Amino acid sequence: RQKAEIMDREAMGRAITRIAHEIIEHNQGTDGVALIGIQRRGVPLAKRINDRIEQVEGKRLPLGILDITLYRDDLSTLSEHPVINGTDIAFSITGMNLVMVDDVLFTGRTARAAMDALIDMGRPKSIQFAVLVDRGHRELPIRADYVGKNVPTSSNEVIAVEVDEIDGREQVLIGEI
Ligand code: 5GP
Ligand code: MG
Repeated sequence: RQKAEIMDREAMGRAITRIAHEIIEHNQGTDGVALIGIQRRGVPLAKRINDRIEQVEGKRLPLGILDITLYRDDLSTLSEHPVINGTDIAFSITGMNLVMVDDVLFTGRTARAAMDALIDMGRPKSIQFAVLVDRGHRELPIRADYVGKNVPTSSNEVIAVEVDEIDGREQVLIGEI
């Protein structure tokens, strides 16, 4: 099946840079702000946001990794198959302003599960949400605070997010199932 490129390396980089600046602006700096990368591709994206924030603010944010793939696989099939990639949050989230980072926002079920998991671990001051692509089709009252690109999709379309660390390429594609 053919896939069309909707973001290239430069577009992804610019979106990440903008999101980093929006996070700093929204939180009036970065004190008490931490990033939570959602496995799998949310993790490299969170690292890039952290790199940009460090360039601007001169310090890196705490970065945790959350695995909610118990609820939904990374895509291709949207399978319900449980896959454990590991959860690693080595700091107390109580009182923190957490920014969850994921590659694609679709129904909102992953974000809801991620919030459940975080709230089980402590009492964050706030939870915010950053995604590279919002493809629509929400099934829950969830929205992202920071969006790289809004991509209205039909139900037979899927988004492929490719990052250097995992895919050896840096681009976003849209294709049909
Ligand atoms: P949701 O839980 O909002 O339905 O779906 C979001 C989660 O499923 C994200 O973690 C994302 O990785 C994955 N996902 C859902 N739809 C897509 C898609 O079209 N492309 C990619 N790459 N991932 C998707
Ligand atoms: Mg995912």
